[in-house]
Amino acid sequence: MPKKPRTSRKPKQAAITRFPGRPAKPAPKLSINRRQTTEEVTSKRADIAELKQREASFRLLFDTNPVPMIVCALGDERILAVNDAAVEHYGYSRGEFEKLTIRNLQAFDIEPPWATEHAGEEHAARAWKHVRADGALIDLAIYSRQLVYSDRPAVLLALMDTTERKRAEARLTFMAQHDALTGLPNRNLLRQQMDDILLRSRRSAEKAAVLVLGLDHFKAVNDTLGHGVGDKLLRGVGKRLQSMLREDDALARLNSDEFAIVQSGVTRPEDAAFLARRLLDAIGDPHLIDGHSVVVGASIGIAISPGDGDESEKLLKHADLALSRAKNDSRGTFSFFEAGMDARAQTRRKIETELREAVRGDALRPYYQPLVDLSSGRITGFEALVRWPHPERGMISPAEFIPVAEETGLINAVGGLMLRRACTDAAQWPDDVRVAVNLSPLQFRVGNLLSLVMETLKQSGLPAKRLELEITETLLLEKSSEVLATLHALRALGVRISMDDFGTGYSSLSYLRSFPFDKIKIDQSFVRDLAANPDAQAIVRSIISLGKGLGVTITAEGVETEAEVDCLRNEGCHEGQGFLFSRARPNAEIMGLLKTQGNWSTPSGAALVA
Ligand code: C2E
Ligand code: CA
Ligand code: CA
Repeated sequence: MPKKPRTSRKPKQAAITRFPGRPAKPAPKLSINRRQTTEEVTSKRADIAELKQREASFRLLFDTNPVPMIVCALGDERILAVNDAAVEHYGYSRGEFEKLTIRNLQAFDIEPPWATEHAGEEHAARAWKHVRADGALIDLAIYSRQLVYSDRPAVLLALMDTTERKRAEARLTFMAQHDALTGLPNRNLLRQQMDDILLRSRRSAEKAAVLVLGLDHFKAVNDTLGHGVGDKLLRGVGKRLQSMLREDDALARLNSDEFAIVQSGVTRPEDAAFLARRLLDAIGDPHLIDGHSVVVGASIGIAISPGDGDESEKLLKHADLALSRAKNDSRGTFSFFEAGMDARAQTRRKIETELREAVRGDALRPYYQPLVDLSSGRITGFEALVRWPHPERGMISPAEFIPVAEETGLINAVGGLMLRRACTDAAQWPDDVRVAVNLSPLQFRVGNLLSLVMETLKQSGLPAKRLELEITETLLLEKSSEVLATLHALRALGVRISMDDFGTGYSSLSYLRSFPFDKIKIDQSFVRDLAANPDAQAIVRSIISLGKGLGVTITAEGVETEAEVDCLRNEGCHEGQGFLFSRARPNAEIMGLLKTQGNWSTPSGAALVA
């Protein structure tokens, strides 16, 4: 019995285009019926001539077509003819081709499409995968048309190579769903992954936790060390996070310094807290980048389904609110979403609008808190602290609105205003009394700080040596040459530079080496309960001896009790500032305060102005 062709259903033959193979078949013989008239014979000859003409045109079109084309038999799928483009594209010679079937070219053994199609129809492209002679896999869009070739039912295939296009499409799809810098999924893909995770967790009654992680002070790294280092840091952070997660968890980069992690299979909030702690530890280890050891902290906000929301967008929003809380409370920690956070976020937006209004209406005022020389009891200067008298809420604390001002860029207006007012007020004080003004790291980014200070000194008439500028360690997170150049230029004017909140940053000691500060202000957390706390005493003692070694003035902040001031005096601390001496007061009270100051010279007479 003859072997049955693999194609089980026999294709129907229909309206066939003759399509001669190579070598060209002799043209069909003319057989003329004797009874035919001369006209009929002439007309038949014309038909045959036309047929030949058409065949020649097809031949030409086939051979010279830039699109690879193959004619293959319908029955045994043997390749009957190929054009030059196919020879070139596949890398097989004509001889090799003619020993192959179409299935030999296919990467996977699937039924050729014509097995199920009606003959004679032209078929729109379908996607195939073929293997070339060199083994390379190619994607093809194949158009097919059935015909008769050398009296055999056959199919003509036009093969468009779509490998590159497919690759480009795959690249585009990848780009639309991933972050170019880290290669991690972006918010779009995360949302899809989250939907799947949430669906699964709904079925299994398990919870899913969304952790939004934000790097602390990442902008400072970017601004000081440059974007190249910033980019590498982000990639490094992405890798570290990835290495800490399970396969079922999802990770994405949301925006510049924010990542999101979706933890599945959570049964208790502690599971999320445990992961958050591990992630924070992992990020906190120094990153070695281009010879710099970059230390960056992170904060995490957590929202858990279904309690904090059962859809991805809501959970992300709530985790983000929890992140803001973590950043505000104390960076380097994590925070769970709580129901009241939405309301607080609205309050924050309200503060922003009203603060803008207050800046425009020139409603902000400096209050001045004295700095007292601990050995003589005399006031050496005042720190200008911004106050916002709010028509409904009374005096709003700068701790509440300075972070909003920094987030919104309003800090430059606030800082400029404070500098101008402080210098103008201080110019009216006695010559030996200085004024200290706080500078936000953001004021260094604008680029005009030096000229602003010069201009303000000139306009107010305050000698440079009576102005102190307080900066915090975050400014020096990485030693940017621009920041240091500005600081040196300010110091060259005669302005004094103080390091504020000393001891609260990552590597306070190393910052002291990067710039010759005039003053170090010991953060109030070390002064608190100084008398009763031997650890705090040891820390304060070493900061004082360090300051002495460097020839720098040491000021203790937040001095509230006589016991604290006694202790500081015994350790040899130069200056104190705190409620024990005075709260911050409006300028109108400063001259009066200066007149009574002699009373602070004895230890027992410290708390005179409350
Ligand atoms: P800071 O620079 O560390 O200022 C000292 C803060 O400690 C002030 O709070 C002051 O009122 C408070 N303080 C002083 N003595 C004591 C004390 O004995 N006990 C306690 N518990 N606190 C004391 P304030 O005025 O609320 O300012 C908070 C922070 O806001 C400041 O901390 C500073 O970082 C920022 N800030 C204030 N004014 C400005 C400003 O004009 N520009 C900038 N950039 N930041 C400012
Ligand atoms: Ca300060
Ligand atoms: Ca301080």
